[in-house]
Amino acid sequence: MLEDSRPNTLDGLSGVVPQPRKAKSQYLTLSPSPWLRSKHGFCMALLSAGYESQPHELRLQWDTLHRLNVNRTIAKKVMEGYKFVGVERKAGTGRVDVQLQRPDGVTERIEVKGTRQVSGVHLLQLIQYHDEGERIAVAALEETVKPADWFVYAAKSMLAEIDEFMHRFPEEAARVYNPTKELCPSCIRTECPHSSRGKRNALCKPNVNGG
Ligand code: SF4
Repeated sequence: MLEDSRPNTLDGLSGVVPQPRKAKSQYLTLSPSPWLRSKHGFCMALLSAGYESQPHELRLQWDTLHRLNVNRTIAKKVMEGYKFVGVERKAGTGRVDVQLQRPDGVTERIEVKGTRQVSGVHLLQLIQYHDEGERIAVAALEETVKPADWFVYAAKSMLAEIDEFMHRFPEEAARVYNPTKELCPSCIRTECPHSSRGKRNALCKPNVNGG
């Protein structure tokens, strides 16, 4: 668990004011998954709480919708004339990609989501699965997005530059706060003024002048 559980109030016994832990980039300790890389594409300082930290009931419902949507996507595509090739489990995440062949013979890889709509983070994750000559798509419950080639190549190239910066300058990257309503609610970087924990820390700051 990455959460900083240390108190933020004045230590009455020692008079020492505990400082929020300065969390380093997750790039230093983890081999970033495509999902984590896509989140860092939007905020380099993000410190993700991780899927496992979500309540069990919520995960159960998301996982169920995701699995249903895998089969629904395959059924829809086969009825449109596509040929089913297979499903593929990504290591460690349990997520399933669907591979199909279009009527013109081109392979199409579909990343399936259990959310209502496709987000920018989903698109950044998707482009990391793109291989030359293939088509890719993200299928959420209410929409499917097929990014254009120009988007795939532009986003891939920018993600690679951000990646390089994060590897070479992890301390600087960990201070580049770029708030998004999609990511901030589940971020646990305590020193960021945009995180709920960061705001709480600011409110709890003791008055060191003794007032
Ligand atoms: S709270 Fe938002 S802005 Fe701050 S580090 Fe996390 S994702 Fe970035």
